[in-house]
Amino acid sequence: MSDYSTQQLMEKDKAHFTHPWTVFDVYKHEGALPIGRAEGCYIYDTDNNRYLDAVGGLWCNNIGTGREEMADAIAEQVRLMSYSSPFVDLTNVPATLLAEKLASLAPGDLDHVFYSCGGSTAVDTAFRLIHYYQNCRGKHDKKHIISRKSSYHGSTFAAMSIGGKAGDHPPEFDYLSDTIHHVSAPKFYGDSSGKTEAEFLDALIQELEDKIIELGGEDSVAAFFAEPILGAGGVIVPPQGYHQRTWELCQKYDILYVSDEVVTAFGRLGHWFASADEFNIQPDIITCAKGLTSGYQPLGATIYSDKIHQVISEEGHGRCFAHGFTYSGHPVACAAALKNIEIMERENLAGNVSELAPYFKERLESLLDLPIVGDVRGRGFMWCVEFVANKDNYELFPEELDIGKRISNLADGKGLIVRPIVHLNVMSPPLNLTREDIDFIVDTLRSSIEEVVAELNSEGYQ
Ligand code: PMP
Repeated sequence: MSDYSTQQLMEKDKAHFTHPWTVFDVYKHEGALPIGRAEGCYIYDTDNNRYLDAVGGLWCNNIGTGREEMADAIAEQVRLMSYSSPFVDLTNVPATLLAEKLASLAPGDLDHVFYSCGGSTAVDTAFRLIHYYQNCRGKHDKKHIISRKSSYHGSTFAAMSIGGKAGDHPPEFDYLSDTIHHVSAPKFYGDSSGKTEAEFLDALIQELEDKIIELGGEDSVAAFFAEPILGAGGVIVPPQGYHQRTWELCQKYDILYVSDEVVTAFGRLGHWFASADEFNIQPDIITCAKGLTSGYQPLGATIYSDKIHQVISEEGHGRCFAHGFTYSGHPVACAAALKNIEIMERENLAGNVSELAPYFKERLESLLDLPIVGDVRGRGFMWCVEFVANKDNYELFPEELDIGKRISNLADGKGLIVRPIVHLNVMSPPLNLTREDIDFIVDTLRSSIEEVVAELNSEGYQ
């Protein structure tokens, strides 16, 4: 695996690798665990300890790691042609065939694909495409974007500004705030202020319409960005009817609906695309990445409607869509995506999700009898457990207690990786998970939570 010991690797890493999303003060002392290899749902550290990776990497390992046919497809494409330019008048075979495939899988008239390097650049592409489209239509003042608090759309300047997670907007960074606006997250549990779910939904829809009107309505608002289920913001499943009603408002005010499906597409909720297949809406743009290649290669795609394409490609204007990356439509990444989709189809992985999701839900909900488990929510193979200090009044643990991390650290020690996000543990495992894997996840979570409850009792918290 490596000529170096785990300790040596950790020291080298600390000295030179600036990790994403890292609190340097903590990292300086604790470092990061080197992972040496992976197989299916499992990852192994460099001391060969095995962990079931219930996060699927970072919500991306949909088909499981280490597949020979993926390695072959990638190697074959590298041998044939590792790179060629995608600009203007050159193309490559995997990029062409993948675009055709995505157009066939995407809902309605979403027939056009722009490639990027991941989710953030797919969102950035959507953002620039929206401006371009509105300018081409002569709607130069129609530039405001609305998204939601607690949303995550990526880490480029535009994508991060569209995102609405308070913790992701520390004052040391700057954001684009003149034209990007956030309305409330559709989080019922803990945030409903005593309303019924129907009242809560009405209030959310009213807030969105008020915001649209405040910004100048149809003449000013260009697009609404929404993850079908808010992922990094805490697996927030909106109330029944929310997608439909927000989409209807977008129709009413000529606002483009962008469904950010970087996490939810490619089987995660049991469908190719959740916006249409799970929530019954027809977005104008879908952004995707992650499960598109299951993490075997970096790739993002912005799939957009024929309606938009007709405007930006109108005959006689000679307009140039001055946007794109060296690696837009990278042939090796596109070859990996094609093989990944072929495997998903052949093994009916989305079908496995639909079949096992009720069992996953039922087993996770059994954790609700524990005194600090306040909520269990999700769909398909996308779940979270929310920890609270007091179930009756939704009192949260103090942040410095780092409750999610405290529990996930214990789970690590028992061979299970879940993702701690403040007071949550989040899961998005590979789609070929079995019942036994689900049992292992839930049993390990239960024993980890029980241990933490006992510790908290002895520390006087409970
Ligand atoms: N959108 C959503 C909904 C995401 O969850 C993420 C990543 N977690 C992104 C965009 C950004 O993707 P990437 O990290 O590949 O740039």
